[in-house]
Amino acid sequence: MKGNIPEGIAFEMTTTLTGKGQDVTLIAVSLACRGYCEYYSGDEGEAGCGGLSAVRNGIATGKIGLTQVSYLLDEPPGPARRIGGLISELCARCSYLESGCDFISESPPPDATPCGGYRLLQALLDCGALRPEIVRSLVAGG
Ligand code: SF4
Repeated sequence: MKGNIPEGIAFEMTTTLTGKGQDVTLIAVSLACRGYCEYYSGDEGEAGCGGLSAVRNGIATGKIGLTQVSYLLDEPPGPARRIGGLISELCARCSYLESGCDFISESPPPDATPCGGYRLLQALLDCGALRPEIVRSLVAGG
């Protein structure tokens, strides 16, 4: 299902974060799906995806903004890691939990990758732009 090779978040993708009246979902899709998801095929994103939902909450509440995302400009996503907190909280609320997400299966294929929302949140945690408790609040709805 891999459709593209994400090259990371580019400056033009962040410009919408500074504008008022922008559609939060479109911004989230641009950053998480277009920037960091290897499954993204240019559509409007998957509404039931836990990763996209958490990123959308972060943008809507201002917890993910230009300041946080600027750390990631033009950085391709690093290798995905299984992070217990993300899997137990983010993935547990994702519709792909039941329909199948290779990354969180008990025996994941070697090349299995998470969605772009998961990868974006991992990157923000890794660079210190978001703290774990903030990520937990995004998963919980804001
Ligand atoms: S990694 Fe898989 S289960 Fe977890 S939020 Fe992303 S799509 Fe859903």
